[in-house]
Amino acid sequence: MSLSFDVVVVGGGLAGLGCANRCAEQGLKVALLERGAEERYHCNSRFSMGFVNCAFEYILGDPAALRRAIDSQTRNYADPELAHAFASNGGAAVRWLEAQGVRLIKGGWQGGQRVMLAPPVPNRMGLNWPGRGADTMVFRLGAKLLERGGNLMRGVAAREIIVENRRCTGVVATRGDETLRIGARAVLLADGGFQANLDLLKKFISPAPERLLQRNAKTGKGDGLLMAEAAGARLRGTDRFYGHVQSIDALTNPALWPYPVVDHPMCAGITVNASGRRFADEGLGGVFMANAIAALEDPQGAVAVFDQRIWETAGKNGARPANALLEKGGASIHRSDSLQGLAERAGLQPEALAATVSAHNIAVETGRFEALDPPRGDNPANRAQVIMEAPFYAVPVCAGITYTMGGVGIDGQCRVQHKDGGVIEGLYAAGSTTGGHEGGPAAGYTGGLGKATTFGWHSGNCIGAALRQ
Ligand SMILES: Cc1cc2nc3c(=O)[nH]c(=O)nc-3n(C[C@H](O)[C@H](O)[C@H](O)COP(=O)(O)OP(=O)(O)OC[C@H]3O[C@@H](n4cnc5c(N)ncnc54)[C@H](O)[C@@H]3O)c2cc1C
Repeated sequence: MSLSFDVVVVGGGLAGLGCANRCAEQGLKVALLERGAEERYHCNSRFSMGFVNCAFEYILGDPAALRRAIDSQTRNYADPELAHAFASNGGAAVRWLEAQGVRLIKGGWQGGQRVMLAPPVPNRMGLNWPGRGADTMVFRLGAKLLERGGNLMRGVAAREIIVENRRCTGVVATRGDETLRIGARAVLLADGGFQANLDLLKKFISPAPERLLQRNAKTGKGDGLLMAEAAGARLRGTDRFYGHVQSIDALTNPALWPYPVVDHPMCAGITVNASGRRFADEGLGGVFMANAIAALEDPQGAVAVFDQRIWETAGKNGARPANALLEKGGASIHRSDSLQGLAERAGLQPEALAATVSAHNIAVETGRFEALDPPRGDNPANRAQVIMEAPFYAVPVCAGITYTMGGVGIDGQCRVQHKDGGVIEGLYAAGSTTGGHEGGPAAGYTGGLGKATTFGWHSGNCIGAALRQ
């Protein structure tokens, strides 16, 4: 079957729905292809906790401050054009989202929590999305698209983008056994990343991707990246993901994912491998440590080590604190009054663990973190504490992958970049399928929902402007 539209959007998460609605508002004939067939199809947007921020800052705040936050989080890794587009459009995109009837509330006092989708997700373990803010937002945007005369084609998976002479002219998709050839003046890829594609994870992120925790909706299979790459697109920053460090039991116990995370006590203390040695800079925080654990030869071989004081302080940080949710959910926590006993219970080498803890304590007391091997940053957000007060704790952990931070390269107008320079005309991308905004050496996070809201809306504006010319 052959169809034709002004704009075809691939993916019905926040980025795709934002773009499709913006295009329909401008009078364009739009089709949104969504692989999920169910009315409540799964996607990361729907599973999210609902905090809409820009690099942990208030997304409705001063664009110059947002820009500084992006640069600081990513250690200047973010492409300046994308950082500018994010910082300068974030506020307007969120206001637009609100104007669609998406309810926003103040989720907390800190910058990154001030804008939250309502109603909020309850503060408990496990997945709690049905009927909450993110779920109702996806419904709302889908309904608005239909109201505007757009087509929301569920159960349709894009398989190939049609590109002739570096110009995209449509998409080949399947609906069951049927092949659809869909012509378009512009195509937007918004399929949500490649976190659920083990081959791509092995290529870019982890030697043993099957040993990572899929902390996501498992719908981001990298289709957009593979289709764009086949068309000659530039790929960017594919080696980093957003995620958290979780109990190893979250791999088998659904009550333990996507929350609680172990980031806070782990980063106040140390993380060791089976030999009892540190292997990465805990001062860079939980997202960075999740990446470091994923990159280990055995991503299930890491253990977070801390003491009673850390458990009572950093352990209680966050809306869903490790202390006491880990225990409540049945996660393995080894405790002992001596490091020797702890090492034996957790299967770590006792002498090596004692030496690692001693070096950590000396660094905390002297402030000489650079003397550690590997060195540790003295980051106030993840301040190191001594490990001295019994009982001592060891929590076997794993890397939970939420979404990939890198992917298809785009310019400031969301146009897909060609690997040889310039862009692929008519091809756009937004949300977690894109790269260049976040990641880099410190795995800097700039906000999944913030990125999807801003670049979904912004891509719709850019496509509208291009098609009017
Ligand atoms: C548990 C959890 C909590 C989170 N909490 C937050 C939070 O509080 N704040 C925050 O900023 N971020 C959060 N995130 C991250 C955030 O949800 C994502 O970054 C964001 O929603 C991505 O939006 P997207 O539109 O790019 O992708 P998605 O929402 O994943 O949408 C992509 C869609 O594309 C579809 N698709 C895939 N391939 C194809 C194909 N070939 N053809 C057609 N359709 C296809 C998929 O089925 C899916 O519906 C969280 C994520 C999770 C999992």
